[in-house]
Amino acid sequence: MMIKKLPATNVVIVGLGWAGSILAKELCDQGLEVVGLERGPWRDTAKDFNIASAADELRYNAREELMLRPAQNTCTMRNTPSETALPMRFWGSFHPGNGTGGAGNHWAGLTFRYQPADFRLASHLRERYGKEVDPALTLQDWGLDWEEIEPFYDAFERVAGVSGKAGNIQGKLIQGGNPYEGPRTRDYPNPPNVQTIAPTLFAKAATEMGYQPFYVPSALASQSYTNQYGLTMGPCTYCGFCTNYGCANYSKASAIVNVLPAVANMPNFEARTDCEVLEVLKDSTGKKATGVVYIDNNGERYEQPADIVIVAAFTFENVRLMLLSKVGIPYDPFSGKGTTGRNYCYQTANNVRLFFKDQIFNPFIGGGAIGMGIDEFNNDNFDHSGLGFVGGGSTRVTPIGSAPIASRPVPPGTPRWGSAWKKATVDHYLTTTSIGCEASSYPQRTNYLSLDPNYNDPHGRPLLRITFDFPDNDMRMAQYVTDKVAEIAKVMNPEQIQKQPRKGPWSNGDYQSSHVVGGFVMGSDPSTSSVNKFCQVWDIPNLFVVGASAVPNNPGYNPTGTVGALAFRTAHYIRTQYLQKPGEMMV
Ligand SMILES: Cc1cc2nc3c(=O)[nH]c(=O)nc-3n(C[C@H](O)[C@H](O)[C@H](O)COP(=O)(O)OP(=O)(O)OC[C@H]3O[C@@H](n4cnc5c(N)ncnc54)[C@H](O)[C@@H]3O)c2cc1C
Ligand code: SF4
Repeated sequence: MMIKKLPATNVVIVGLGWAGSILAKELCDQGLEVVGLERGPWRDTAKDFNIASAADELRYNAREELMLRPAQNTCTMRNTPSETALPMRFWGSFHPGNGTGGAGNHWAGLTFRYQPADFRLASHLRERYGKEVDPALTLQDWGLDWEEIEPFYDAFERVAGVSGKAGNIQGKLIQGGNPYEGPRTRDYPNPPNVQTIAPTLFAKAATEMGYQPFYVPSALASQSYTNQYGLTMGPCTYCGFCTNYGCANYSKASAIVNVLPAVANMPNFEARTDCEVLEVLKDSTGKKATGVVYIDNNGERYEQPADIVIVAAFTFENVRLMLLSKVGIPYDPFSGKGTTGRNYCYQTANNVRLFFKDQIFNPFIGGGAIGMGIDEFNNDNFDHSGLGFVGGGSTRVTPIGSAPIASRPVPPGTPRWGSAWKKATVDHYLTTTSIGCEASSYPQRTNYLSLDPNYNDPHGRPLLRITFDFPDNDMRMAQYVTDKVAEIAKVMNPEQIQKQPRKGPWSNGDYQSSHVVGGFVMGSDPSTSSVNKFCQVWDIPNLFVVGASAVPNNPGYNPTGTVGALAFRTAHYIRTQYLQKPGEMMV
């Protein structure tokens, strides 16, 4: 097929979600010519998320309009290497994004930082628990310290206008913040969101039990805010159509609100939308990326040469593009050798539902990240000696807004249809809440990403194959943290509770989390990692792969704070180091 070769640019970026957009802006500010290629459409708040049409549950939640169409690209899935994987023909387990802003348009907005120990997890856990740590887990250190990433978390929080209350400023613990967070340079840019009833009752019960509740860090603006790029957010109105929807109010941070408008009109930036990148090209040595090949909406193929290639297409497509482009050695689960596809992790989502008789929650009021949390059962914040597992989860009540079609909470034992079901939905809609525990997912040898040998996309290229099931370690952890959460639920005094610890096997049936990480992981040893601490691909110094694919073990937190921090960090080091010695690995 004919491929038209275009004039070269300094930088080509694949994907214009949070990561790609931040890199585009930061590198354009440096004076570089940047081309951003995005497989989906250009999205704009005024045009796409108009106040009159944004709160459409059928369109956005049921029909998933903002998500990638599985007919365009999907994954195949299986639980173990001995099974034959089958394609996901609808999105259940997770909800991939498409178009400028990426999944950051329909995300929930919880903007956590990982903890200092997460960056040296393997060393930390072995130092504390020795042989107690299950040897089946392929835990790894990042080769990156807390001090090296903290300033970039701060940069992302400022760009996204995060609302919250610090728990630890430069080592000084602050009452009312999260006491388990790593030392931070300064407080969040915005004060915490005002809380609704359910988080308030949860925080009261948690305090009575001796826990230390804090405001969940939220990318839903608590007040009007202008970021360092001069872009303004409006205060959140708790409209309740937040997760899986775009925000009509410019209140939920996203690349289309907080980054792209500041770079879109710069003369050295060009965004090409509806352009899907098919391959990263290398020269004959294999040690230099020369550009990318992409296909536009008309089926025309182009080669875009570039001095620097940045892939920011999120976990699955980052890994798939690397496999298709023969970057790194594909991971082999039997020998444990190879790095591309290694250490794929999910998230272990747990939940306890509380059914009250007279407590009215008005659950239609809310937003994706407005809530209260505790971290006593998260990660290694409690002693795991003798428990038979490591890891834990972030416990929180964040009522996202109960839209009328999907939100029908009924107690266990209720018939699934008929008049008894109808009565139960009426009785329980206003009086039910839940406590979530978004918990860690640790890597094991047989969980990995690879190219599927049987199923192709419309361009004839293999789909990405996910081989994943929850490790035994994580199932033991899920039961433990859910039991702990249920103790708090009981203190809140509902009529009935329902414990829902995550159970295996992993399936695509119900939504669990879009926090898929790993597969092209960061580390200091090229035999077990794909990128160095600058997201620079080992042995291909002008190729950078940025995003959650770099995360080698998933902690009990959402990833986007870290994705944003990695994007800022990569941009900073390209600007200050790489450009001084182009074509060399940074140290
Ligand atoms: C429903 C939902 C709720 C979430 N809630 C939270 C939360 O509360 N907190 C949190 O931290 N995280 C949350 N997340 C995760 C969050 O959305 C991601 O971490 C974040 O969007 C990652 O940003 P990114 O730029 O790396 O990837 P993306 O946002 O996925 O952007 C990647 C972009 O690359 C494009 N692309 C992919 N392949 C190609 C290709 N071959 N060629 C060209 N373009 C391509 C995509 O179309 C996309 O626009 C949530 C996600 C979902 C779906
Ligand atoms: S809840 Fe707030 S941030 Fe979310 S969509 Fe509504 S107004 Fe926007």
